[in-house]
Amino acid sequence: MKMETETKDLVQMDKDHLWHAMHRYNEKDAPMMATEGSGSWFTDTKGDKYLDGVSGLWCLNLGHGRKEIAQAAYEQMINLSYFPLTLSHRPAIELSAKISEHLMGPYTTFFTNSGSEANETAFKIARQYHSQNGNQGKYKFISRYRAYHGNTFGALSATAQANRRVKYDPAVPGFLHVPPPYSYRSPFGENVENSDLLAAEYIDQVINFEGAETVAGVILEPFISGGGVLIPSKEYLTRVSEICKKHDVLLIVDEVVSGFGRTGKMFGFMHSDGVQPDIVTMAKGLTSGYLPLGATAVNSRIYEKFKDNGNLNHFRHVSTYGGHPASCAVALKNIEILENENIVQRVSELSESTLSALFELTALDKVGEVRGVGFLYGIELVEDKKTKMPVSEEFMGEIIGACKAKGLIIGRNGDTVPGYGNVLIIAPPLSSTVEDLRFVIETVKSVLCELC
Ligand code: PMP
Repeated sequence: MKMETETKDLVQMDKDHLWHAMHRYNEKDAPMMATEGSGSWFTDTKGDKYLDGVSGLWCLNLGHGRKEIAQAAYEQMINLSYFPLTLSHRPAIELSAKISEHLMGPYTTFFTNSGSEANETAFKIARQYHSQNGNQGKYKFISRYRAYHGNTFGALSATAQANRRVKYDPAVPGFLHVPPPYSYRSPFGENVENSDLLAAEYIDQVINFEGAETVAGVILEPFISGGGVLIPSKEYLTRVSEICKKHDVLLIVDEVVSGFGRTGKMFGFMHSDGVQPDIVTMAKGLTSGYLPLGATAVNSRIYEKFKDNGNLNHFRHVSTYGGHPASCAVALKNIEILENENIVQRVSELSESTLSALFELTALDKVGEVRGVGFLYGIELVEDKKTKMPVSEEFMGEIIGACKAKGLIIGRNGDTVPGYGNVLIIAPPLSSTVEDLRFVIETVKSVLCELC
């Protein structure tokens, strides 16, 4: 009884005082409130249990309740509660070395608090790098339509989704957008062979038309995640990397979602041959969401320009909490678990042996395409396979609601292009058990078989 009253009070306080992310004011629906979690599951205030099929906001990669991670934060907080990175501390040093090792470095890392800030930092580094290299005119950035790179103004300017932008434009000048590799809806025409490679060549053309001397960098996710789970051929990123090199344009790879095992490799770019990004941005899976942390790693060619260059090398960028000792300690423990439990290899194997059963759903009338890599799957729903007309927002809501009624939380892409929020997203914690994954598959299958 007491719990019920408390919950009622909390619901009212929530309505009165808490402004939610992606807020849409709706008097009727109180948002789901979780009280506790264990592994891939959480419990809400009614005592109902749910499998979190999107890992929170694709960050809870090791699931709830890893005591070793909590212990690492506790010990760090007791020992050295805060210290700025204008100076230094052991957890940040060790973590920067660990990141370099996993990126097959040498890389040097600047720490922030979030993915958005990691990308902002990348843009500032790229502009300053070119400027210090004698190319002051190189300031533009190219990103892809459908991409999401964050909520702050630079990162939002790289984000090319109308609905996330319209109320906040004008964006920062100097951000250009190109078509993503998306063979299912290729802007280069139906049934065009190599449409992914055409999307890469398009970047080359834009750089030529803009003038390579004005372009600082290309930013991309190896696999567009929130924009609809797009899985290009491996050659796409290799080709983009070659194009960037040709024009002295920095390749900035946003590994905020794909980093730390989500795609079955430590980093998503590692699926493509010959790619050594100039800058890699990270967050989410870096700490499995246990504490906030963002990171921007640059290769030695870039960092060289910030060394031994007199006053020019001064990187005027600071974040009070970026690289907080507790966050770094948590990230180190998180990576240690990934290594010791062979999580990345496990994701790759279980994706192939188990989650890939989701591809069978392509047989259903309303399933246009199933796309997946590692523990990152997207199911694109259409009214009709010929016209590829997207299903309605209400229908997407119905599917997600039906999964929830059976105890599974899944997501969908933001309506990147108005009316095109038609991709279901499945991205369970990387530590999910085989039984967890079977539950995900069976639930999605039974709901889609009934409704699609
Ligand atoms: N990049 C990508 C690819 C993302 O998905 C996100 C967050 N969803 C961000 C950047 C921004 O990260 P944050 O929310 O931590 O600022």
